[in-house]
Amino acid sequence: MAKPVIITVDDDPEVLQAVARDLRQEYGDRFRIIRADSGASALEALEQLKLRNQPVSLFLVDQRMPQMSGVEFLEQAMSMFPDAKRALLTAYADTDAAIRAINNTKIDYYLMKPWDPPEERLYPVLDDLLDDWQAGFHPPFEGIRVIGNRWSPYSHQVKDFLARNQVPYQWLDIELSEEAQKLAEYSECDKLHLPIVLFGDGSHVMQPTNLQVAEKIGLRTQAEKPFYDLIIVGGGPAGLAAAVYAASEGLRTVMIEREAPGGQAGTSSRIENYLGFPTGLSGGDLARRGVTQAKRFGVEILTPQEVKGIRVENQYRFVQLEDGSEISCHALMLALGVSWRRLDIPGLDRLTGAGVYYGAAQAEAMSCQDEDVYIVGGANSAGQAAMYFSRYAKHVTMLIRGDSLTKSMSQYLIDQIAQTLNITVKTHTSVREAKGETSLESITIHNSLTGETQTVPATSLFIFIGAVPRTEWLDGVIERDQHGYIITGPDLQKDGQRIKGWTLERDPFLLETNIPGVFAVGDVRHGSVKRVASGVGEGSICVQFVHRYLSNVL
Ligand SMILES: Cc1cc2nc3c(=O)[nH]c(=O)nc-3n(C[C@H](O)[C@H](O)[C@H](O)COP(=O)(O)OP(=O)(O)OC[C@H]3O[C@@H](n4cnc5c(N)ncnc54)[C@H](O)[C@@H]3O)c2cc1C
Repeated sequence: MAKPVIITVDDDPEVLQAVARDLRQEYGDRFRIIRADSGASALEALEQLKLRNQPVSLFLVDQRMPQMSGVEFLEQAMSMFPDAKRALLTAYADTDAAIRAINNTKIDYYLMKPWDPPEERLYPVLDDLLDDWQAGFHPPFEGIRVIGNRWSPYSHQVKDFLARNQVPYQWLDIELSEEAQKLAEYSECDKLHLPIVLFGDGSHVMQPTNLQVAEKIGLRTQAEKPFYDLIIVGGGPAGLAAAVYAASEGLRTVMIEREAPGGQAGTSSRIENYLGFPTGLSGGDLARRGVTQAKRFGVEILTPQEVKGIRVENQYRFVQLEDGSEISCHALMLALGVSWRRLDIPGLDRLTGAGVYYGAAQAEAMSCQDEDVYIVGGANSAGQAAMYFSRYAKHVTMLIRGDSLTKSMSQYLIDQIAQTLNITVKTHTSVREAKGETSLESITIHNSLTGETQTVPATSLFIFIGAVPRTEWLDGVIERDQHGYIITGPDLQKDGQRIKGWTLERDPFLLETNIPGVFAVGDVRHGSVKRVASGVGEGSICVQFVHRYLSNVL
């Protein structure tokens, strides 16, 4: 932890130097001593300390200074660091002013100049004040702070990105926190440019892209080498498992992930059916473990980085990255997964990120403390989210179109929901409209059995209505089914006919696409089982096919 600060202010350079020297000698090992030659420059220093979240323990300030007296400075400094102890340095003639300040400005002590010898006339007083301060001191949060508006999609994006990358942060709502308002002021940020992300080194970015945040927190977005044995696109369970097996078996491997490693599984609040974790584990935990394991074997992970296209040239496969650059490889694995399907009803698009969310349970749960939360969807992902929100929200209402959860949800979750008092399941119910000026204010729901339509106040609506592949960018290169899932292995052969353009003697391997050496695994694959374990299984098995492919091209 950074040392707490003692600030001394005096306009006389010789006195300032002497006070700072004495302070450093006695307290330098435990406190950082900062000196300023005027109230104005000390206030500037205080703003920087606020932005770095560094605590101030003590002000030792000369009373008689031009422009701003010691008392005037302390009045302002107090509002920034109300817990810091305040001591005035006075000449004999200023004694009356100092005594008045004890009453009016809540000065803790005044010391007379000269203070020699400090062992008798300075340190005992300051020791007392610092002990007092230390007793009530709670170390501040040292990580990243995000200052924003709860209903702003930009703020949601930053929080979601940090949460999904398992970066701890403190959220400060500009509407609720005076501290947040002051920090916005110190960093000269108006409301239009929120959120501000403050880093531990005092630097900040306003309304940043994921890429800007990624660079600050040390994520790698550019490839180290121009060529790899294997490029894996997608860092969900399938991609991570493939990365671990490939690198552990000696393949030079890079994994490219658009949002955050973990994929859909990374957004799950609790996975309870994955082998080896009898009490379940959060998706974030699974992702963190997978990333650590992959890195341990030397996998290079680029994130956030999106692959926009692929091309084939002889035995080389190239991927085009978002910034236009290319990297190439012998074998390519597409582990692209699926993305949330959008609900197409009036008002929803405009309010997405401002009370309406797809997935995102982790990032928003704390904000919903003691509120009513609505969840659309009846599959496992919706059930997990309902259980997770029930810990924070006053009440959770699940809206499902069917007559029960049994057709779409695992029994263990149905049982948990039934036992949770603050969850209600509304069957035969769908959302018809969402309303709100700048954030969600109400939803209109319709019961298909009774025909009843009602509008209810709502500030948070979380949608979990299934997912679709986003594979349009593979058009013309990789064979896909009518829904966009990638076709592999035996499924490529129609009516016993060999696939168009396939020139090799052998048939495609089980998980190979219509392009030799390009594989597809996990949820994005036509016919796959949409589960963590099956994604992990496919990613792992596929590495065997990569080896067999490489043995013929190398
Ligand atoms: C909320 C939730 C809870 C779930 N709970 C369970 C559960 O309890 N048990 C269970 O077995 N399953 C569960 N599932 C399903 C499970 O998470 C998925 O089956 C699994 O994550 C699929 O893994 P995947 O690697 O194939 O794809 P994904 O997890 O979807 O990962 C694909 C990754 O590829 C990235 N990507 C896509 N396109 C690109 C591109 N062009 N460039 C770079 N990166 C790209 C995406 O950003 C994503 O991170 C849950 C799913 C959800 C959403």
